[in-house]
Amino acid sequence: MSRVFNFSAGPAMVPQAVLEKAQSEMLDWHGTGMSSMEMSHRGKEYMSIADKAMADLRDVMAIPDTHEILFLQGGASSQFAMVPMNLLRGKKSADYINTGAWSKKAIAEAKRYCDVNIVATTEEGKFSSAPSQAELKLNPDAAYVHYTPNETIGGVEFDYIPETNGVPLVADMSSTILSRPIDVSKFAVIYAGAQKNIGPAGLTVVIVRKDLIGETIDGTPSMFDYKTHADNGSMSNTPPTYAWYLAGLVFDWIKQQGGLTAVAAINERKAGKLYAAIDGSDFYANPVAINNRSWMNVPFTLADAELDKVFLEEAAKLNLVTLKGHRSVGGMRASIYNAMPEAGIDALVKFMAEFEKKHG
Ligand SMILES: *Cc1c(COP(=O)(O)O)cnc(C)c1O
Repeated sequence: MSRVFNFSAGPAMVPQAVLEKAQSEMLDWHGTGMSSMEMSHRGKEYMSIADKAMADLRDVMAIPDTHEILFLQGGASSQFAMVPMNLLRGKKSADYINTGAWSKKAIAEAKRYCDVNIVATTEEGKFSSAPSQAELKLNPDAAYVHYTPNETIGGVEFDYIPETNGVPLVADMSSTILSRPIDVSKFAVIYAGAQKNIGPAGLTVVIVRKDLIGETIDGTPSMFDYKTHADNGSMSNTPPTYAWYLAGLVFDWIKQQGGLTAVAAINERKAGKLYAAIDGSDFYANPVAINNRSWMNVPFTLADAELDKVFLEEAAKLNLVTLKGHRSVGGMRASIYNAMPEAGIDALVKFMAEFEKKHG
């Protein structure tokens, strides 16, 4: 068996210790004679798995009692619609910050339900930075302010939490959740597809302030109403049981690492090594403003795009895979979520130096 260092933006690597634990429990979970994926989601064994996973997430992220945790399906993309459906609450417009491809998708979907005010956009600068607080032209009457703290494709991360003066703040944290501690109390809604930094695809985590639940726009399907899920412990229908179980193992793993403070220190160091390698050479480049460089997604280009193919081929020979940049950006992208071992960064940095020596 040879595991590779997989730099995919998502679905992405899962910690090896988690996969091994899941493997050991695959045929027989704790003497039940069945896999967790074969259990009734309402049985006491599965309920113990489900409750523990939610409690551990609450613990790991220090989620206050003011906020409900929902484990849903439909991906972060479904939240692009669920957010306006649940948060407009009689208002006509919402504020959106546009920092890249994922912001744009959220904006396009919201436009189906309300007036969208783009309160800042970095499109002119080709989405290579985040706007500053002073640049946000916020509307006090907006139902909420939506932003993407980490743009997965552009590799742009906010270095601050926007101050919205009481207007509910909504964050698509798909590619940054669990990468560092955050003050959850500052957010009305946090949502994330699991397949980047939580676990397998199929689970979508939504953290929502309880007082904002229960007033949807007319015609909202009950499955798109946060209340349906909040009232039923996210088991209004069959949840993605195996993904939920596996996410629970990841939360355990994060605790074993020492929690998000410890994880953040590792992430900062990992990203720091990679950016240092890029900045230390004339051959590699990253276009993002220094203080907005993502810890999780690191796009970079080679001096000569003709060499992209060779770079990818030679990297793959060293078990460094899925480095091809997003089709909209080109070049390379190394996604280095929590589960990417530091050894993977070291191997990539070493390869990059050797490649430059040979071809640069
Ligand atoms: C991956 C991603 C999405 C899409 O998630 P799905 O679960 O595939 O719908 C949305 N937003 C961001 C920031 C992402 O990284």
